[in-house]
Amino acid sequence: MTRRLAANSAGITEAVHLLRSGRLVAFPTETVYGLGADATDSAATARIYAAKGRPAFNPLIAHVPDVAAAEREGLFDARARALATAFWPGPLTLVVPARSDGTVCELARAGLASVGLRVPSDPVAQALLRATGRPVAAPSANRSGHVSPTTAAHVLADLEGAVDAVLEGDACAVGLESTIVGCIDGRAVLLRPGSITRAALADVLGEAVASPAADDHAAPQSPGRLLAHYAPATPMRWLGADTVPHGAAVLTYGSAPIPGLEHASVVHNLSANGNLVEAAAKLYSSLRQLDAAGADVILVSEIPKSGLGEAIIDRLTRAIGASSLI
Ligand code: AMP
Ligand code: MG
Repeated sequence: MTRRLAANSAGITEAVHLLRSGRLVAFPTETVYGLGADATDSAATARIYAAKGRPAFNPLIAHVPDVAAAEREGLFDARARALATAFWPGPLTLVVPARSDGTVCELARAGLASVGLRVPSDPVAQALLRATGRPVAAPSANRSGHVSPTTAAHVLADLEGAVDAVLEGDACAVGLESTIVGCIDGRAVLLRPGSITRAALADVLGEAVASPAADDHAAPQSPGRLLAHYAPATPMRWLGADTVPHGAAVLTYGSAPIPGLEHASVVHNLSANGNLVEAAAKLYSSLRQLDAAGADVILVSEIPKSGLGEAIIDRLTRAIGASSLI
């Protein structure tokens, strides 16, 4: 059941409580309704991907109430600061290097070293973010492949039962996704056009904003091009029907017996009781820990293809592909 919360102080208080308990709350912004979760909590973030039914992890925009909160998460160069000053609060997302002491979890960043940040102007979103006191990850509140919702009714039509609550605000004023600008490596790159135009950006920057080159992997336009994802330095492969060799690091899922698992030097189980949300939440930290174990190889046992399993397999397939290039 999805609870309908009025966009008043009682409704916002309840929404804050739900977000801080790791639940999903859809809320209005000036662009589209967002499917919100605590961006510092990887299990909560995993629920976003599960609810949207997306077959891959893409980086999520972390919403914060003001520039000061944004600067606690990302490193702003002069260009990023100028754009933030000119357009926040408003329909602009800035992708900047993530701070090492930032709180947005790796799953929300899809394993990237950058973080996408936005300060929305919608008063309900503002009140919610201020009271939550944590960055809120929020892609559009629709199922994957459906159009973005601009009313609470659109959200319910798509996600009734999949989201814990929806804050019923007004229809979105802009109704178009935010403009996304990457400010990394001393350039400003237009990653996604939106209601803030190229000309308006150039006015503030005093120079044209660059377009991502077709082969520019640092400036992703679509998630499929995000080659900068974290890739382990240790060679990785699927275990398949093989027996685990001596000293291997092994990533497992569920409780099915694995031949030779006693030979492994280290084993991480993404979810012993077969919970895909738990598995998604643990994925990046498990990969890092297995990579740090110093084994010759990381072997990955079978993961079910259903639900979030598809996105987890997609991520592991990319890691395996990248590791074989080393
Ligand atoms: P949306 O679909 O509106 O939630 O926007 C998500 C898009 O923002 C992603 O597909 C990326 O293009 C961009 N984005 C968000 N966070 C990042 C990040 N950390 N690094 C690169 N791009 C990002
Ligand atoms: Mg969308």
